[in-house]
Amino acid sequence: MRRKLVVGNWKMHGSLATNAALLQALVGRSEQGAEMAVCVPFPYLQQAHAALKDSAVAWGAQDVSEHVQGAYTGEVSAAMLGDFGCRYVVIGHSERRSLYGESDEQAAAKVKAALSGGLIPILCVGETLAERETGRTEAVVSRQLDVVLRHCGVEALANAVLAYEPVWAIGTGRTATPGQAQQVHAFLRNRVASADADVAAGLRILYGGSVKAANAVELFAQPDIDGGLVGGASLVADEFLAIARAA
Ligand code: PEP
Repeated sequence: MRRKLVVGNWKMHGSLATNAALLQALVGRSEQGAEMAVCVPFPYLQQAHAALKDSAVAWGAQDVSEHVQGAYTGEVSAAMLGDFGCRYVVIGHSERRSLYGESDEQAAAKVKAALSGGLIPILCVGETLAERETGRTEAVVSRQLDVVLRHCGVEALANAVLAYEPVWAIGTGRTATPGQAQQVHAFLRNRVASADADVAAGLRILYGGSVKAANAVELFAQPDIDGGLVGGASLVADEFLAIARAA
């Protein structure tokens, strides 16, 4: 039985003052059945750690270096994230891929680094609108997933989370229909199952792309959707908590 998971991706939003209010709201009302986590900007990890350490809400980061340590200016290692109590790290988000040129291979190397550092990677895959409209959704998500399977082995996914995030639905207000999302989630699970059925059965696959309280119930009712990776709506405590309740 896979426990539902709802992860907030704060992206580059927040301040000490606004975070304090948001974190406090989550601490006070985090007793739902679904697991909750927030992935915050690096400078706020200490704040998240302090606010959430005695709560049921986990925290994490939005990226990690593929390197262990060294002369990599601006990078943050998995061990450093571990020092701040991170449980999760988002890897291969479409904004990292499209704005910072992150490759499938880099994402795979980051998954490996995260696992070696004791973190749970949340690997994001998803197609652009042009790729969907030309019938390439499955080819794109399999390419993104297969590189990780090749570099890290299917067993890596026993300690990871997968997130299907159609690029055209991220931050656009346009959500995949529950049927569209379920189709890709089932495809991804089957692909993992062809390498290891047990890993596939236990793998949590989150949906991300304009998830809101209003569409969460229907999305999370799909058999292969195990929760959500939530951007904009995770910045509003009531909305994020309502999404967690839906899960
Ligand atoms: C995301 O950033 O991963 C995301 C899904 O954003 P939004 O919920 O705002 O579409």
